[in-house]
Amino acid sequence: MTPKYKKNDKYTMNYFSCLICKAQTDFYFSKDFQQSFELNLIDYHKCENCGFVFSKTHYEMSDATWEKLNLDCHNSYQNQDYNQSDPRWYERLSLQSKVIYKLSQLEIIPNSLPWVDWGCGDGKLVDILNQRGLNVQKYDLYMQHNSDYLTNEGLQQTKYSLVINTSVFEHIRERHTLDVINSLIAKDGVLALHVMVKEDIPLDPDWFYLQPPHVSFFTNQSMQILFKQWNYKASIYHVPSRLWFWFRQMDNIQMSVIKTLLTETEGFYFKEGFMNYWGVMNK
Ligand SMILES: [Zn+2]
Repeated sequence: MTPKYKKNDKYTMNYFSCLICKAQTDFYFSKDFQQSFELNLIDYHKCENCGFVFSKTHYEMSDATWEKLNLDCHNSYQNQDYNQSDPRWYERLSLQSKVIYKLSQLEIIPNSLPWVDWGCGDGKLVDILNQRGLNVQKYDLYMQHNSDYLTNEGLQQTKYSLVINTSVFEHIRERHTLDVINSLIAKDGVLALHVMVKEDIPLDPDWFYLQPPHVSFFTNQSMQILFKQWNYKASIYHVPSRLWFWFRQMDNIQMSVIKTLLTETEGFYFKEGFMNYWGVMNK
């Protein structure tokens, strides 16, 4: 039987350092996309230190090819209430809006500065939040032509009390972009993340998350390294909505509100420092 993946010695000669921790990465496996979105054989590499996995093929694409791939993928699923690779998407959006609203009402998320959904796609989460009376801006690299979206220049005009980032990290192929997202968050601000995290990225070309535009795959350890590099202090994980909140600061008032919240509401987990997302999920 032919294996579904193959090792190729040529990659041991030419390695990328890890986007997250800068350690050496090695060839992990290949997947044949059989012309889906004009992709053929894609090579995935893995960091020997933190387990981060990425598509070396995507990372090496020209900017023009990468942009075309993103636009093609983007156009194939925007403005639909059903996303083939993520069937629980709409239900989760609704839960995410509820939890953000709740943390806002409790003033656990500050609102002295604007809020933005970075990479908001067609902006459904923002629309729901704005309907609830919150004031959230939309930003998406591929949607800036729309009048209710921030442009690159507009985005950079201020820092933000909250940056929402759902299903975005897996689309990013440059460390610089991750750092730009982080740099937008105010010194007392919060990063709200929804991202696929695994203890280990499976060595499996049939793993459902190997979608044509997904290029970066995060382990718990790679997220913990980012948390430390970016100097976050505390984290909340809300299981039903799969939203993770990273806090740059945590004062005593927020802390006491959070402790009450945890006793009153199912599904919230809090930790000073980094919370092991999958540790929570597996309980
Ligand atoms: Zn690494």
